[in-house]
Amino acid sequence: MGKIPVGILGATGMVGQQYIALLENHPWFEVRYVAASPRSAGKAYREAVAGRWHPVKTCSGAVGDLIVEDANEVSRTAAAGKRGDCAFVFSALEMGKDEIRSLEAAYAAAGIPVISNASAHRWTEDVPMLIAEINPHHADIIPLQRAKRGWDRGFIVVKPNCSIQSYMTPLYALIKAGYGVGRLLVTTLQAVSGAGYPGVPSLDMIDNVIPYIGGEEEKSEEEPLKILGTLTERGIEKAATPRISAHCNRVPVSDGHTACVSLEFAGPKPSIGEIKEILASFTSLPQELDLPMAPKRPIILREELDRPQPRTDRDADKAMAVTVGRIRPCNLFDLRFTGLSHNTVRGAAGGGILNAELLKTKGYFS
Ligand code: NAP
Repeated sequence: MGKIPVGILGATGMVGQQYIALLENHPWFEVRYVAASPRSAGKAYREAVAGRWHPVKTCSGAVGDLIVEDANEVSRTAAAGKRGDCAFVFSALEMGKDEIRSLEAAYAAAGIPVISNASAHRWTEDVPMLIAEINPHHADIIPLQRAKRGWDRGFIVVKPNCSIQSYMTPLYALIKAGYGVGRLLVTTLQAVSGAGYPGVPSLDMIDNVIPYIGGEEEKSEEEPLKILGTLTERGIEKAATPRISAHCNRVPVSDGHTACVSLEFAGPKPSIGEIKEILASFTSLPQELDLPMAPKRPIILREELDRPQPRTDRDADKAMAVTVGRIRPCNLFDLRFTGLSHNTVRGAAGGGILNAELLKTKGYFS
């Protein structure tokens, strides 16, 4: 069977380029359509990304020769879909939230499913916000989403914020094992690549930490509740707990978001030994289905006192695993740990590809 042809909206950006790199040898998907702003439209992809981030890696092969389309021209993507060049799109657009919201909906209305990294639709009630290991069942809302809007083939699925899996995956492993969490305090140390291209000025970043990332603390506190939410006839109803307080900081690291967590269990409290066992043995549907982008172990446990670290741990298992260490009791709550994951892979393009693999196995692209 041939590969499924896919398109990338925002293909020239930080996340878009990561999609191109990760899909280069993907067994199921092949990039046949790239789109970005009118500034890049009309250029060969190789030319449009020249001088940006890691163009050498992303410009090998046929993708470099693709002509970049204007992502605002949905009809051109729909025509590509009809010719068999674009069965669905990954959206890595960075524009106004309202613009992205209506543009992604226009794609879905034109019959093109959208797997999005943008935040625009994260709080749309019937749009699932997927971390494939945590809430794959939320994809079951797609038929309702289609029915409500009169879409036949199109739909929208989103990924949460890029730092969330660093603490959500261990948090969910504990919840799944029967240890509900009541309160959680998280301090994130977020890489500069999370700010997109061209990112934060080097003079602000070198020898410095910026204790503010616009909108990030709200996302870090609220998005986990939708991910842990329940499906209803109207949409996804968010969970009431855990209550989360977040401090989000930009640090001079190229890739890899770190999360320092203190949490309080709502009921029974597992021992430290039990917690380590739960995290190290955690697997979920992507591992059962052996999806190509899935890490063998979603959580890698490190016992060294000084791990995880971005340089040594962000690329663990295709940069798709969350590395957890420093598991210890907490003086104020019950448990402390440090989680780390790659923000543009697990937290963006790799997570989007894993979601698409999950949706393919559920038959949503036919
Ligand atoms: P980026 O590097 O700034 O790239 C933005 C992309 O959007 C570029 O391809 C750009 O095209 C395109 N674009 C900008 N204005 C446009 C317009 N008016 N019409 C059509 N296309 C337009 O951003 P990024 O970091 O890759 O982030 C992309 C999305 O993913 C954002 O929504 C971001 O919030 C989300 N995200 C990012 C990360 C991360 O770690 N960086 C993680 C998770 C989610 P041109 O090159 O032609 O300007």
